[in-house]
Parts: sequence; structure tokens; C-alpha cells
Amino acid sequence: MEEHPLKMRSAYAGSCFVLTTKHAKSIAVASPFWDKLKASMVEYPMDTDLLGTFTGEVERAGNALECARLKCDWSLKRLGEKVEFALASEGSFGPHPFIPFVPCDHEILYFIDRRHGFHLHMSHLSPKTNYCMKAVDSLEDLQTFAGAIQFPSHALILRPNDRDTKAPLFKGVDSQAALEEAFKECLKHSSEGKVWVETDMRAMFNPSRMEVIGELAAKMADRLATHCPKCSFPGWGKIRVEKGLKCSSCRSETDLVKLEIFGCVKCDFETIHGRADRLTQAEPMHCGYCNP
Ligand SMILES: [Zn+2]
Ligand SMILES: [Zn+2]
Repeated sequence: MEEHPLKMRSAYAGSCFVLTTKHAKSIAVASPFWDKLKASMVEYPMDTDLLGTFTGEVERAGNALECARLKCDWSLKRLGEKVEFALASEGSFGPHPFIPFVPCDHEILYFIDRRHGFHLHMSHLSPKTNYCMKAVDSLEDLQTFAGAIQFPSHALILRPNDRDTKAPLFKGVDSQAALEEAFKECLKHSSEGKVWVETDMRAMFNPSRMEVIGELAAKMADRLATHCPKCSFPGWGKIRVEKGLKCSSCRSETDLVKLEIFGCVKCDFETIHGRADRLTQAEPMHCGYCNP
């Protein structure tokens, strides 16, 4: 009998997931979990800034993955044994790993399933972000920056440019009046006559980020809706890849992915597949010999 991943009745139908967040992320996460798993969601507000903030007032403890897991642990501990399913997300921003100068949003979603006894985390890299920062010395400069990052639907953070003066700090600036006010105040406190402005990356102030979190939530919900062909446990999906796709010209191995390996979170059953895009050989431009 050929074994295919099973789409069966959701193992989570009628359950409630707890999402640890301070920034209203259920706006993005709840709907795919309802559509694909028939699971509902409640937010558990945690002062996640305790784990570190984007603006650097608190140094972030550990890496993003650890942070996301800690957030899940935190609500499970606080809410007690009855809560079986915890979710938390964590984002980081910076240049794209393969395309220099293209800013990227790297999101991680961490899931703890106490009923079935497993942890699962997934990530998503998207260039769909307005992540940007700059020192400005005039209101015109600031307006140009604001226009380019989709202000006011996307909020801004302002502070004096001087490294040693972090205050005053204006976060979640999302109106023209608040922007001008914040600029004036920061300018007053800057000895260099410059204001530091950056995009506010907190999800509820950044619809682009909310959208990327939603895309990742849909990926995770799909995965939890897919069951192991062997033991029918939920969470079947891609667990790793194998590189070495051969160059179409010289047949040597490149760094491109050759195979995708799917696995179960419970048993050790695995299946091996070609690339999802059906590519079977690499263009010589990706080859270390043909294009050193
Ligand atoms: Zn080659
Ligand atoms: Zn299995």
C-alpha cells in the first residue's frame, strides 16, 4: 500500500490554543487555525518586553527561537495543566541572507502540544517588510522617510540621534500631529541636531509584519492538519533538506537543495521527495566550477 500523508479530521477540532502576545497577534494567527483546524484561540498577554524589545531598552535574552519557546512556557506555567496548546511568535529583521540590501522579516512560530507531547517550530522569511531606519535633521527629510515606509498605516519610533541620549523615546507614532510633535521634542534633546527615526516593528503597529505572521500561521496550521502516513499523528511535514542538486552542465554538486525529507513528530517514519518546484538540475550560474 502506498503511504500518503493523511488529511483527516483535525486532531485539534474544538480545542483552544493559547497565544502568548502583547501585540494582538491573534489578528493574524486565529483565522488560519480556525479555518484549517477548527481550533479557537485566546490571547494571553505577557509583558514580552521582559524578554527584550526591538528598540534595545532591554537586551534580548537568548536567540529568537529560545524567546518564542520561553513565551509558550510562560503561559503554560501561569495557566496550569488544563491548557494543552501554547503558541508564540518572534520576529527579527535585517538584510536578506542571499540578497544583500534587501530587508527581510524572519518570523518564528513556536508550538507546544501537551496533549500529544511534542514541540514544533516553523519559520518564514519574507522580503515583505518596511524595516528601515535613518538619522534625519529636517522635517522634510522625516516626511520623505515616513512616506517611503507606508506611514501612517505603519507606525514609527523616534528618539534623539545621540547614542548616549535614549530619552525621550516615542513609540507607536501613527499620526501626522504625533510625528511632528515627536520630531520637535527629540530635536530639542539632541546635541547633534539630529533625530533617529525607525519603523515600529511591533505587529499591531505594522500591518506588513502582521501579514507575514499570518502566512507563517497558515503554514503551521497546514502542518498540524497533516497526519503521519504511518501512525496518523498530527504534524507531518518537511523536517530537513539535502543539498547537492547537480549542475546541468558539468554534473558536479551545487549548494542547491536536491531532496526534501518529510517526517513525523512522533515516530521515526520518513519519506524522501524531489524539490517542490520539480527542479532536477541546477543552472550553471549556481555551480562552483562553471561559475566560480
Ligand atoms: Zn557546473
Ligand atoms: Zn508517525
